[in-house]
Amino acid sequence: MDSGQEEREYAVRTGKVHGELCPICEYDMDHCQCIFSGNAHPDRNRRIKIVKDHLQYLSPKQIGHLVALEDWWSTSYGDEKDAEEYMKFLEFVEKEGEG
Ligand SMILES: [Zn+2]
Repeated sequence: MDSGQEEREYAVRTGKVHGELCPICEYDMDHCQCIFSGNAHPDRNRRIKIVKDHLQYLSPKQIGHLVALEDWWSTSYGDEKDAEEYMKFLEFVEKEGEG
């Protein structure tokens, strides 16, 4: 049995998952690629569906990341300045959340 499978079994048994990577693009969440080109990417679309079917494998942090992505995709701005301002606003919200 490979260690990945052991880890998943542990997660299923204990409910403890320590995922730190984006479950969709597999990049570090800080470098998530999903904010670029949205959810229109055909492969990504399929992955999103699968990930949503298996939320039990995700850590609370990953679920939070997924929620933030959904929000991002539903409010992606065509205007570059608007998108920039939105990023600033998200940073503000994040900072507020830490305090
Ligand atoms: Zn991602």
